[in-house]
Amino acid sequence: MVGIDWSSLRQSLDGQLLLDSDPAYEWTRKPFIARFDEILPQAVVMCATHQDVVEALAFARRNDIDFAVRSGGHCFAGFSSSRGMVVNVTPMAQVKVDGSRVEVGAGIRIGAMTNALIDHGLVVPGGSCPSVGVGGTTLGGGIGVLGRLYGLTLDHVVAAEVVLADGTVVTADAERHPDLFWALRGAGAGNFGVVTALTFDARPAPRMTNFYIEWDFQDAAEVLKAWQRWAPSAPEEMTAGLGFTAMDDLDEPAVAELFGAMVGTESDAMKLIGELVERCGREPARVNCREMDYRETALYQAGLLSAVNNQVVETPQGQIERQGCRFTKGEFFDGPIADEAIDRLAEVFVAGRTAGEVRGLELAPWGGGYARTDRHATAFVHRDTSFSLKHAVMVTPEASQGAKEAAYRWVTESWSAVHPWGSGRVYPNFPDPDLTNWGDAYYGENFARLKRIKSQYDPQNLFRFEQSIPLG
Ligand SMILES: Cc1cc2nc3c(=O)[nH]c(=O)nc-3n(C[C@H](O)[C@H](O)[C@H](O)COP(=O)(O)OP(=O)(O)OC[C@H]3O[C@@H](n4cnc5c(N)ncnc54)[C@H](O)[C@@H]3O)c2cc1C
Repeated sequence: MVGIDWSSLRQSLDGQLLLDSDPAYEWTRKPFIARFDEILPQAVVMCATHQDVVEALAFARRNDIDFAVRSGGHCFAGFSSSRGMVVNVTPMAQVKVDGSRVEVGAGIRIGAMTNALIDHGLVVPGGSCPSVGVGGTTLGGGIGVLGRLYGLTLDHVVAAEVVLADGTVVTADAERHPDLFWALRGAGAGNFGVVTALTFDARPAPRMTNFYIEWDFQDAAEVLKAWQRWAPSAPEEMTAGLGFTAMDDLDEPAVAELFGAMVGTESDAMKLIGELVERCGREPARVNCREMDYRETALYQAGLLSAVNNQVVETPQGQIERQGCRFTKGEFFDGPIADEAIDRLAEVFVAGRTAGEVRGLELAPWGGGYARTDRHATAFVHRDTSFSLKHAVMVTPEASQGAKEAAYRWVTESWSAVHPWGSGRVYPNFPDPDLTNWGDAYYGENFARLKRIKSQYDPQNLFRFEQSIPLG
């Protein structure tokens, strides 16, 4: 790549081209998860229009430069990082509202979209972490507190504007490029083109009862045994996740936490939560449950996440939130995990805890709105499962190599403790570079059709990375 003349690309852009000599390069090129900081791109293209994306792709083709596509940069596997070029759509963050139709630039973040829509009394159901990119999360799914009622973020997409490998700009919807539209919803992340805008059919933003219930860790296994038979079959107005959390300070004991929200009153929510408490036979140590409007709900849910995970970093471009060196694994479960495996999971969770290491398990209940769409109606195949379980561990970027290796060993051991009960299927938004059968894990029987669509829309395999869909 020595000798590339970037000036022609710079001149053709409405947005910015950042090389390592530009002051803004250092913080713009970094992804959200510091584990991938060492993947240094030659250049970051901050695309302000879809024409900028066209120019960036043409430049990459002409100069044979590898590239990655990025919206919010939160990918667990580093697939939005590249040693060539990062095609970043962040500047495309406009919001247009027309009735319940909402068109956004693919670079907008969940927090900014949520805030803009609340002013119109609307919401696009999905995750609660404000800094996650709408582009990435939508193309891989999008789960959150309204998911069991309304479905995934991608279930609300009615059209996508896409820049294809040959530089054509198309709109994919039910009538135009229907195969591409099908593929984008569940397998669109970095595989078929750069999505520059998304149109959603939004929902009215409801009042919700938000809750956070905590148990001492000695009760964690019994709570999980009861939760897995309760949360996935609860009324669909209720989305109640379960977490095990161990902070980096060893003086803080590990806890089990039920967190989520319900479209209903406090007494509706507490009645249901009471059923879980009765089934597990363990009294919570802390109960917080309150009805809120949707604006407060979004803040409350975002606060639950950042309390555990995020660090605020001061940069010349202002404050940004980041995570450290994080390793994540996940899997769907079609039915309950055996009691002895749950006992083992809880044992592994606290075994050999070290200062500086944050551990977390997060279980998300399925059913309800997630299951309402047929498994072949979009590329998102994971419709009729029971719950997903994510294992995550984080150490600081400055931690020793030994500490990073120990963190990785722990996440693998935790995953292995329950994997025999898993479905082998994995949520595409939780990608894992260790998976060997990733095509089946992310896409199931939809993988064959995805390979054919890949050949049609990207016959030269321009959009490629470690786990990109191959030509078929
Ligand atoms: C702190 C945190 C909280 C999270 N919470 C939730 C949650 O509540 N619910 C949930 O469902 N998920 C959640 N996730 C997972 C999240 O949905 C995925 O990490 C998602 O891929 C992030 O999207 P992004 O745009 O920020 O990431 P990026 O790293 O920018 O992109 C992720 C993938 O999508 C591709 N991509 C990005 N933009 C485009 C585009 N415009 N066109 C084509 N391909 C593109 C990238 O190449 C990459 O492969 C969370 C992740 C983190 C780190």
